[in-house]
Amino acid sequence: MLPAFERRALQNHVRSISFVDGLPMNGLTLLDDPADPNTIDIVIRPAVLTETISQFLTRKERSCYQPSETHLEVSVDAGSLDATLDVLLHEGMHVVDLTADSATTQDSPPTLAAGYWQSLRTRRVPYDSNLLGNACFFSRSPLSMDTAPAIYQALAQSPFVSLYATTNWLDDSAELVAMYHLTHVLQQPYRIVLHRDEQTIVSLSPMESPLVVARFSAVKALYP
Ligand SMILES: [Zn+2]
Repeated sequence: MLPAFERRALQNHVRSISFVDGLPMNGLTLLDDPADPNTIDIVIRPAVLTETISQFLTRKERSCYQPSETHLEVSVDAGSLDATLDVLLHEGMHVVDLTADSATTQDSPPTLAAGYWQSLRTRRVPYDSNLLGNACFFSRSPLSMDTAPAIYQALAQSPFVSLYATTNWLDDSAELVAMYHLTHVLQQPYRIVLHRDEQTIVSLSPMESPLVVARFSAVKALYP
């Protein structure tokens, strides 16, 4: 189910994959010795083993916000395949990026992200909207749900496939490849919906946005 370039990177460079309770994030790729690309360990939160990709991405997205008093809520429809697949697609791309032959360092993004990032966490103008890039996923300082409509409108006008992708180029690259593979190879849906009870407030399909579509040729180049 994984693309060949990720499968190869996982087989060649990953030392261990383990499941650990209490992780602050859902998956983590760690390069133990920067001088040795074969010392990569992947750690995954066990909760993803029992979730579908829709359930997983909805939980992840909601973790960014405080509960709303106005019933405003965000949901992600990304099909019913196992969430572990999405996590492996994402972490697999971290392995590809961290072991690239080029002189790539975390501060100089490779082709897939180069036009969009000037350093690990700094997006290039004009993709540097203040509404994006918030580290709510990591900071444990959830945002007010009232800010969500403006945030998703900004995301819809950006070249990024998810809010998580706007935090740094490694996650941008990983999210872009994971979503491309899910939607274009495995034919899964991908839609983010902001709703109040049954009423849709904002609905976006990032993979149909022209700025995201413009990045597909660079992703396709990774496939044999
Ligand atoms: Zn990541």
